[in-house]
Amino acid sequence: MKKAIVVGSGISGCTCARALAENGYEVTVIEKLNHVGGNVYDELIDDIYVHMYGPHIFHTNDENVYKFLSKFTEWFPYEHKVLANIYGNYVPVPFNLTSLEKLYMKNKVEKIKKILIDEYGFGNKVPVMQLKQHKDKDIQEFGNFVLNKIFIHYTQKQWGRKIEELDPNVMQRVPVYISYEDKYFTDKFQCQPKLGFTQLINNMLNHKNIKILKNVEANDILELKDGKIFYKNQEFNGKVIFTGAVDEFCNYKFGELPYRSLDFKFKKTKKSQLQPCAVVNYTVNKKYTRISEFKKFTTYKAPEKGSIYIKEYPLEFKRDKGLIRYYPIVNEKSTDIFNKYKKYLSNYLNFYVLGRLGDYKYINMDIAVKNALDLANDIIEGDISK
Ligand code: UDP
Repeated sequence: MKKAIVVGSGISGCTCARALAENGYEVTVIEKLNHVGGNVYDELIDDIYVHMYGPHIFHTNDENVYKFLSKFTEWFPYEHKVLANIYGNYVPVPFNLTSLEKLYMKNKVEKIKKILIDEYGFGNKVPVMQLKQHKDKDIQEFGNFVLNKIFIHYTQKQWGRKIEELDPNVMQRVPVYISYEDKYFTDKFQCQPKLGFTQLINNMLNHKNIKILKNVEANDILELKDGKIFYKNQEFNGKVIFTGAVDEFCNYKFGELPYRSLDFKFKKTKKSQLQPCAVVNYTVNKKYTRISEFKKFTTYKAPEKGSIYIKEYPLEFKRDKGLIRYYPIVNEKSTDIFNKYKKYLSNYLNFYVLGRLGDYKYINMDIAVKNALDLANDIIEGDISK
């Protein structure tokens, strides 16, 4: 039987493991924690699915991804909405025409609305930096306004860096809506797993060809030497799909890759609800970036009384401090370092990197699933054509 080892049991690793298992591979999933699921792991607390590693919202335009995941979960429809709390004033994020009407200088509202609609067309989305860099003074002024109210402070907290030091894709994730659209995502499929992400993951891993080893560090049982992979000190000729941090796995031989980490403060309230929508972003003050109230997006039958919420305090990832790598900080320098790891690892023909950490890319869940399915297909087809 063809063999594969998958390092990491997050959504990337589990998707790849399942796809390989269904195609006759004997798959061993290695997980360093005492639970599977990576950062989508959730627990049912007081009848609310609490995301133990921060809020995860599923959305995709990719029908294949949706269909694949639908084999392992039922869904409940959920359209994500976010408000920014600006000194007590709530306005929709992404910044839309409602936000504009609520916040912009009263005497300029109608004029700028007309300019924006003429320039970009009603219903379209525009990256905030494009507004800021526009040659028209009014659009520029509006762009700077949105940057100040929504992006500058939040981004500094989230990344510890200025907007200009980040990959432009980061800001483009949250464009300005030239419409009254108030959904955070506009994808075709928007839904949450009815019984939580952990159950979805467990169902994925529940296959006769999949074995799971928890509490096992990859570095303790996997070794790369002279173009060969060793598993428990024996040469391993199967495939290894690695979804962890490549710098750590390679003992930092080309230097450390930067990541952002998060400190979460979980809280309970006896009130039936804390805030007007699932996520409220604090874009002009506070040390935390956002508060997520789980019952608003994880429980299709929310309990009447009581609510659980989480505040996120970002910080720089540092080794040996018990921190978790949540976000790769993609820029020119880190890309150079990552490419060195990638080049080195490409000497090991059966070793593949995958996922937000393995690939060092700031991707959403659906792309993680898509990439994992694509990789599994490549592996399967490669083996067939051998
Ligand atoms: N962002 C911001 N203000 C907001 C929302 C987002 O400045 O109110 C910026 C911030 O830099 C953030 C990025 O846009 O990291 C992407 O936001 P997203 O909501 O996609 O972040 P995630 O949910 O992945 O943490």
